[in-house]
Amino acid sequence: MYEELGINKSLVDLVNNCENACSKQFKLVDEICTINSMKVLNSFHKNRVNESCFNETTGYGYNDLGRETIEKIFKDIFKAEDALVRGQFISGSHALTVCLFALLRPNDLLLSISGKPYDTLDEVIGIKENPSSLKSYGVKYHEIDLINDDFDYEKIKEFISKNKVKVIEIQRSKGYSTRKSISLDKVEKIISFIKQIDNDIIIMIDNCYCEFVSDKEPIEVGADIVVGSLIKNLGGGIAPNGAYIVGRKDLINLCAERLTLPGEGKEVGPSLGINKQILQGIYLAPNAITASLKTTILASKVLEELGYEVEPRYNSERVDIVQNIIFKDPNKLIEFTRGIQEASAIDSGAVVEAWDMPGYSDKVVMASGSFIQGSSIELSCDGPLREPYIAYLQGSLTYDYGKFGIMKSVQKLLKEVEKSDR
Ligand SMILES: *Cc1c(COP(=O)(O)O)cnc(C)c1O
Repeated sequence: MYEELGINKSLVDLVNNCENACSKQFKLVDEICTINSMKVLNSFHKNRVNESCFNETTGYGYNDLGRETIEKIFKDIFKAEDALVRGQFISGSHALTVCLFALLRPNDLLLSISGKPYDTLDEVIGIKENPSSLKSYGVKYHEIDLINDDFDYEKIKEFISKNKVKVIEIQRSKGYSTRKSISLDKVEKIISFIKQIDNDIIIMIDNCYCEFVSDKEPIEVGADIVVGSLIKNLGGGIAPNGAYIVGRKDLINLCAERLTLPGEGKEVGPSLGINKQILQGIYLAPNAITASLKTTILASKVLEELGYEVEPRYNSERVDIVQNIIFKDPNKLIEFTRGIQEASAIDSGAVVEAWDMPGYSDKVVMASGSFIQGSSIELSCDGPLREPYIAYLQGSLTYDYGKFGIMKSVQKLLKEVEKSDR
């Protein structure tokens, strides 16, 4: 079958051998899947999910049973006091923006301790000038880089002892940076360190790509508020859009009143018929994340065998669903990305070209032949066209589609290598 789909026999053998070498890692991923599946099902039972949760509301969206049940489920899964899960969030970046604008007031100080935040937040914070930024309202910002892929305890201590910080943002997944993603163990240690110095600081986590990768979530290690997207992990490939914020009740209320309006908060916001998809998405999410993880583990092993630098390695601990392949060559990055597009179910005939995507500073190549536009829990690959030309590979709703995607990409990559050797 693979050969019929245009994959060389030798490549099929290589990938199958790599797959066998990953069996121990696959088993660990399956164990996490069991735990998270039980977490989800238990919460469905406890909150009595029933068919009337699938009904939609329109207009103001008062008394939306499905929406309220979904928020209870997210609250349970994250062990949070409250949750805001809405289709009115355009994206993860929008939810992060709502959260920051909800928590910060003029003269307040925002501190990022995981280096520069995700690219789309540059204009939100005012790192890049924008007349609507937090900076334009007088919100101050400072950032401290990671050192050796961990927090810079010394600098953090010095800074928060000398300055009154309102919110500390920690971005767990690496975004388009070259650093490693941050494990919950590291997050737990730094939070208790910070809270000993100043217990009033609000710890906000950008949790994009990290949900259900382990058996714990950030609130359980002391975070106050956590944000993520529904077109990534927890949407399970089914939620058509939206994002979530979970955490302390008082903070969720502030976020709800920023998303909707002061005085109405969580009480309004029509679900417009997406409740069933959000519920089905969270139901399938543990499995989709498992398929994604297996795909990235296999990719890591195959590309390492071929001599490329990869991060994480196939047998390293994973904290998100993102796999980096460091190509150090723009053409290899582009060809690999094109392979993922060609292997996709949707738009397989589209040819990936680099483009100036809104919110990003470098040109970006992006393969996303997905059912939901831009969805990256579906098999997808992207990367900014800048040194060292890293591919960020993530997703796949099933392992078999992911495995085929890797074959297709590696085949294109090998052709490109042949071409440049000649
Ligand atoms: C994807 C992502 C976001 C938000 O992205 P959207 O595309 O706006 O949903 C924010 N932070 C990180 C680390 C991400 O990976």
